[in-house]
Amino acid sequence: MRVWVDDQRCRGHGVCVTLCPQVFSLTDDGYAVTTDTDVPAELEAAVGEAIDSCPEQAISKT
Ligand code: SF4
Repeated sequence: MRVWVDDQRCRGHGVCVTLCPQVFSLTDDGYAVTTDTDVPAELEAAVGEAIDSCPEQAISKT
């Protein structure tokens, strides 16, 4: 799984960081970025939960 955050949609709620801090982090500006776009298999469930929980639908995957 590959994952990324659309910086035009992200509003910095931080839900993704709370659910999966191994993959998502907040920049100094308060918006989310992925620290690693290639998600290890053991984190796919947590990333999927972050995708479903993002209030702005800002997280995408392939
Ligand atoms: S949950 Fe969505 S809107 Fe909130 S910081 Fe993460 S990507 Fe951005």
